[in-house]
Amino acid sequence: MWKKNGDFWEKKLNGVIHCESEVSETHGIEIESILELHQKTFGRKEVCQMRIISLLAKVDEDLCIGCKTCEFVCPTYAIEVKDKMSKVDASRCTGCWNCENRCPEHCISMIGREPFIARVDPREVDQDKLKALCKKAKLHPKQSVCGCTGTKAEEVAAAILKGAKSVGDIGLMTGASTGCGEICLQNCLRLLEAGGIKYKPHKKGYQNYFKIKTIFEIPEEVFKKYPKYHFEEDKKLLEKMIEIE
Ligand code: SF4
Ligand code: SF4
Repeated sequence: MWKKNGDFWEKKLNGVIHCESEVSETHGIEIESILELHQKTFGRKEVCQMRIISLLAKVDEDLCIGCKTCEFVCPTYAIEVKDKMSKVDASRCTGCWNCENRCPEHCISMIGREPFIARVDPREVDQDKLKALCKKAKLHPKQSVCGCTGTKAEEVAAAILKGAKSVGDIGLMTGASTGCGEICLQNCLRLLEAGGIKYKPHKKGYQNYFKIKTIFEIPEEVFKKYPKYHFEEDKKLLEKMIEIE
């Protein structure tokens, strides 16, 4: 099954796998291993795109000064600093490297872990509710909402229908927001809002968790005032796209 070569496979594996592509060439891993992992998680093998997590943040307690930088940048709230010591909750860590990249004391390292998949199967939830949620958020279900993981709106909607209450929960369930954490953020917030969830940002977190206005919320008078920006045409086009079956 998993062939370990130092920590090569753990680092290469951590990320988004398009397992229909040449996995063995790009990641040095047999496609059958990926499919077995899918089987272990979901009870069936499936060729698809998936976010695999094979890394875990580990803090060197001798070096940590308790500055909380890691806590403020973790997209899934997997780190908490208590008594001036950073602690990682392994069950919430998605191996995104954010804390490792920003720790001023360089005391976080990424270590290998038993790989698992962050993926929600949109087929497992009520399809009418899923479509209604996407429509309310003004997103097409098949539209990609995360540039890093390629997660689709229907996956985020399914995560919300399965109980996700925050961008962090969505990240844990789908992988979205565990890359750059920027492009997908607005889409996740739109879907959470459409699901009736008022999201409260972390008190001191650096994550930019406020929703900005979309073209659907811009007042008509602004459209009229700036005709050269063709807001009306753009809005009509987007509305048409959302309706495509
Ligand atoms: S960023 Fe580094 S030094 Fe600061 S609390 Fe986290 S682990 Fe400790
Ligand atoms: S920032 Fe990323 S790597 Fe660090 S604990 Fe949070 S999820 Fe894990």
